[in-house]
This record gives sequence, structure tokens and C-alpha cells, in this order.
Amino acid sequence: MLLGILCGCEGFRNADAGQRAEKVSLTDVCMGTVVSFTLYPENGSDKSSAELLTRSLLQEVRSLEETTLSRKLETSEVYQINQSAGEKQGHPLSVQLEDLLLRCQQMTKDSDGAFDVTIGPLVALWRMDERAAGEEKGKLPSAEEIKAAMASCGSSKASLQDGKITLQAGAMLDLGSVGKGEALDLLAKALEGQEVAGVFSLGGSILTYGDKPDGMPWKVGIANPAHPEKTLGTLTLTGQWCVSTSGDYERYFMFEGERYHHLLDPATGYPARSGLRGVTILSESGFLSDALSTACFVLGKEKGMALAEKWQAGILAVDDEGEIVMNEKMRAFFSP
Ligand code: ADP
Ligand code: MG
Repeated sequence: MLLGILCGCEGFRNADAGQRAEKVSLTDVCMGTVVSFTLYPENGSDKSSAELLTRSLLQEVRSLEETTLSRKLETSEVYQINQSAGEKQGHPLSVQLEDLLLRCQQMTKDSDGAFDVTIGPLVALWRMDERAAGEEKGKLPSAEEIKAAMASCGSSKASLQDGKITLQAGAMLDLGSVGKGEALDLLAKALEGQEVAGVFSLGGSILTYGDKPDGMPWKVGIANPAHPEKTLGTLTLTGQWCVSTSGDYERYFMFEGERYHHLLDPATGYPARSGLRGVTILSESGFLSDALSTACFVLGKEKGMALAEKWQAGILAVDDEGEIVMNEKMRAFFSP
């Protein structure tokens, strides 16, 4: 989880009492996480139009979740695709989702399968969201259950062809690893051409956009995995950037003294034990920042650093001993 945005209350807040808005902030829940948007409107723009824009941006993210990406909402394309598993004729894909799945496929290849959105059966078996929320307190999945779920995961279980996807029986897509990043790219696109600036946080993924009117840079804090309420350091950014963090402290539960978190290793079926506790990625692309943060966490330090370099992304990783490593691109923006 990243800090760095100072707006904590529900609904809108306005920096000044008059009509002219200096900034407006909105906090809500969306994509299963807390979202906080802070928008610095065009000079002279009034409060109500800035609020309207902020609300419409949130609506776009909601709609991406509800119509396309959610694994759990019946209204979404991914839900419908998962329902179609086992059907021979394939399920038609929207252009948008086909494009996203092709990018995910590439990331699966690049990460030797450490990142894989066909991981749905394992995600569903672990019920990590429910366990982390304390709603589910049952025993761990058994080795047999894990083996069975693993048999339904893997890129061979989903084929993309002629604008259709065919899922084998039992297969299931889960786009939890890239949804927030896609949402950041959607927000950046919606803001294009508008003379506004802002910082948009969706759980562990943040978009900075434009230049703050006071000329100051954006400050994005990186949490210390050992003490998530504290920061390890700060990224000082100007203009448009995406920052995503995947950590073992974000969504997890404890069982017999061991931590079980939501970043699963497709090769073992268990939460990844890669020697890392947190990975932060800095990229111009929301998709890349989000996909890479998950992929590099599962891959571990050396392979993760190499993968981030391949995509020209900044990476900062914290290992089990609390040691921090980062590449040059990240170092250019990081201060402890
Ligand atoms: P968050 O959702 O907390 O921002 P991530 O972006 O790292 O964290 O995504 C984690 C989510 O991705 C999990 O909750 C799960 O839905 C899915 N997932 C878990 N392991 C993998 C994996 N190896 N490859 C792809 N997706 C994964
Ligand atoms: Mg991710």
C-alpha cells in the first residue's frame, strides 16, 4: 500500500470556502479497495465542475469493473467468460478485453508463468479476500485441493483466437493483478487534453497527472512492509507516472504462525515465498506498473529486477531481511 495522498474523509472536500476550487478530493470504495482522487482544476474553474469531473472519473473506474473486469459481478465480461468454460465454440471478446488479455499473455511468457491471469481456480480456492477480511476462518486448502485447482490453471487452459476466448472446463480468469493498473490508464486517457492535474490512488496503485498549480512535485510514499503504517521513502515525481506496489502485508491471514498472502505462485499453488515482502514499480503505463508488481514479487529479486529492466520500469524491492534493492530508474526518483 502506498501513502502520499492526504485526503481521508468521505465525499468531497474543498480547499477554500469560495466558489473557485483550489482542489477537490474524493474518497470512496471501488475495485475492492479504497480509492482517493485529488484533482487540481484548471485556473478559475469552479468547484462544482471540478467535483463533477472527479465524480465522472470514479464512475468510469466503476464501469470498467462492472462491465469488464470483475470476477465476481454477474454483469462483467470476465464473469460471463468464466461461465462459458467448457463450451467448445468460444466466447466473443470486446476489443478492449482482447487487447488486455494479449498483453497479459505476453507478461506470462516474459515471467515464465509466474504471472498468469488464468490463476482464477487457485484464487477462488484460497478465498483470500474473505480470509483477510476475517469472514472465512476455515482450515487451509488441502494439498489435494491445491493440486486439483492447479490442474485447471495455466495458459494452455485459455486460447485466444479470432476475437474469441475458449476456456477449458474448470478454468477461470482472474484479473485482480491488473485491474487497478488498467483503471489508471483509463483515468489518464480521460484526463488527456484537460488542463487539470491530480493524483489518483486505487489501493496500491497510484497515478500522478499533470503539474501541481503551486509548482511542487508529487510525493508518493512507499510503505515499509515490516511496518506498513510507516514509509521506507518517497518518490518525488513531476507529470504523469504510475506507481504500483504488491506486498505480502496487503491482503493476508495468519495460520499457525505463518503468513498467507494474496500473491500466489502458480508453480506451487501457495502464496509466493520468493524472498520478497514488497515490490514497487514505477512506469509510464498503469498496466505495466500493476502487472510487473505482481510478476516481480512472485519471481523474486534477481529475476524480478531483470523483468522490470526489460520493460524499462523502475523497481524497488524489499526482501525478507528488510534489505532494499532498486534499479537506476527508481533511484532517480527515490529518497529515503
Ligand atoms: P492488489 O490487488 O492488492 O493491488 P496485485 O496487483 O499484486 O495486488 O494483485 C494481486 C491479485 O492478483 C490477487 O488478489 C489475485 O487476484 C491475483 N493474483 C495472485 N497471484 C497472481 C499471479 N501469480 N499472477 C496473476 N495474478 C495473480
Ligand atoms: Mg499488480
